[in-house]
Amino acid sequence: MKKSIFLRLKPLLFLVALNLISCSKDDQQEGVKDEEGVTVDVERTKGLVEINALVVYEFKNNEYVKTKLYKVSDEQNGLQNDNVKQKKILDLVDKIIPQNYKSFINEIVLFDVEDLGGYVHPLKGDFSSLQLGLSLTALEDETIDIEEVIVHELGHVLTFNSTQFKEGLADCETFKVDIPGAELITEVGVKACANNASYVNDFEQKFWKVIRGELERLNELDENDDPSYFQEKFEFDERHRDRFVSDYAATSFIEDIAEVFNYFVRGDKPTTNSKIKDQKILYMYENDELNSVRDFIRSNITFNISARKVNKKNKQFKYCLGKH
Ligand SMILES: [Zn+2]
Repeated sequence: MKKSIFLRLKPLLFLVALNLISCSKDDQQEGVKDEEGVTVDVERTKGLVEINALVVYEFKNNEYVKTKLYKVSDEQNGLQNDNVKQKKILDLVDKIIPQNYKSFINEIVLFDVEDLGGYVHPLKGDFSSLQLGLSLTALEDETIDIEEVIVHELGHVLTFNSTQFKEGLADCETFKVDIPGAELITEVGVKACANNASYVNDFEQKFWKVIRGELERLNELDENDDPSYFQEKFEFDERHRDRFVSDYAATSFIEDIAEVFNYFVRGDKPTTNSKIKDQKILYMYENDELNSVRDFIRSNITFNISARKVNKKNKQFKYCLGKH
């Protein structure tokens, strides 16, 4: 059976949770701290996944500076010390993420694992400081388009930062993020409420509110115990297929907004608005901030979105925080 394209509408912002594993601290370099290894706990999918974190760059004085090395295996030593490859990925970050948004991304972690292109998660509970994870391996993986990954992750950065949310959940009537710290990479808990004028609140109201009831009813069915689940799921997917720019977009509205941003930046302007997925992209054209980010990126990179490997596209975001 074809895998259903919809997952549950839950706070999917942080699909990835991490546990830290202690390691000895040898191999220390001047000015660079050796750090503990990192294991990613991919909720509801594959359990623990070692992301093989290699190196951390921190945003200081308007540029990313290498500040930490993780303890790695001998075979990862080469990648960890490959400054040419690391510069290549940081140059792409420079081309895709405008300078004024880099202040939200305090850290970039480069890692070495297959099937994961990138992730974003908070370092503080109010989204004022984020960590962006990017796969150094992806540079040479034909199934992962690292430019697309960075654009997608920028979609998360634009929609989950301190201009979009306020800390705490008191009287919150908009979209809430309520995740206990132990589940997060930095063990930072997040309790944050989307501002009325935030992208996620507006996007959810415009494009997800109408299917919220259907999703809640579907989520009440137990995938393992309820025989009607897959039929209901199939019918739901068929009914709403035109709502989403990609299968991954359908996993949550948080991923939806990042994927719509991805298509908005990398693709051409839709010529009709008959499908909701096109309405979503056109919605972004109405926003000055998003248009200027699109213009910035496209002044640096020429995309050929029609050449992408559609069948492989989900791979790069499979575990991305944001949820991904
Ligand atoms: Zn994502």
